[in-house]
Amino acid sequence: MNTGLSSIKLFILLLFVSALANAQVPQGLPSRWDELTASDWPKALEKSSRTCILPIGILEKHGPHAPIGSDLIQVREWAARVTKKEYAVVFPDYFYGQINEARHQPGTFALPEKVVWELLESTCEEIARNGFDKIVIINGHGGNPEFLKYFIQTRLEKRHDYAVYFFQPGSDSTYLSKMAKLHKSDQAGDQHAGERETSVLLYLRPELVKMDSASNESGINQKRLSIPDIYTAIWWFADYPNHYAGDGSKATRELGQLVTEHIISSLEKALKAVKADTKTLELQKEYFDRVKE
Ligand SMILES: [Zn+2]
Repeated sequence: MNTGLSSIKLFILLLFVSALANAQVPQGLPSRWDELTASDWPKALEKSSRTCILPIGILEKHGPHAPIGSDLIQVREWAARVTKKEYAVVFPDYFYGQINEARHQPGTFALPEKVVWELLESTCEEIARNGFDKIVIINGHGGNPEFLKYFIQTRLEKRHDYAVYFFQPGSDSTYLSKMAKLHKSDQAGDQHAGERETSVLLYLRPELVKMDSASNESGINQKRLSIPDIYTAIWWFADYPNHYAGDGSKATRELGQLVTEHIISSLEKALKAVKADTKTLELQKEYFDRVKE
């Protein structure tokens, strides 16, 4: 009768235990602000060239089938993946922005405009007070760019010793031709929770997407308001009262991978350029020196 472990079994067990212990040891410097220690700070500032990424998402309905936090999930994943290639510090979950057009839908978290503005301003000030002089905003929400650009433009109102950069990925002909091959629905109507965005979610977090529900509502433009050459606040609700624009049922993981890889490669280039950039802060200083304050 064998009452103990044979030496070979014991050896294998020890190997297994030591592998488990090693898995708990963090490798290198974390990118996430909330995972760094205070004593890591000087090293994180140096390694990031004082660059902090602020990924901005939102909480809003994404058709009948995709998660409320879809935009946040995407920007956080982009930041997590790019910083494995090019180091920067990533600010924790931030899902406060302009989302007044979806307050009639469950799950929407829309703070008053002044709070949204002051929160972003104070967040940038706090990031800068902690030693970062470059803040890169990665936005995942279609209702935010106008607000973000105006916010960034108003950084010139008062002297700031930090700069805010807004990542806006472009496209190239190779990407567009690959996209045309994989994309099945009408590209022009594919906006919110449609084929492209659902594909990205299918690629990043398939367990959160309910593909069976994607056709339960219409994502077709209902064109309920038409006044030529005029912008109104209600335009989006007029066109897409279901807060769904496109056809998520056509989504594929393959398309999601294409879009994600394109964004990450653009972001990597942009991040490298921002980290190397000294001109923006130099010009900002020259500008404020010439403004009579
Ligand atoms: Zn979205």
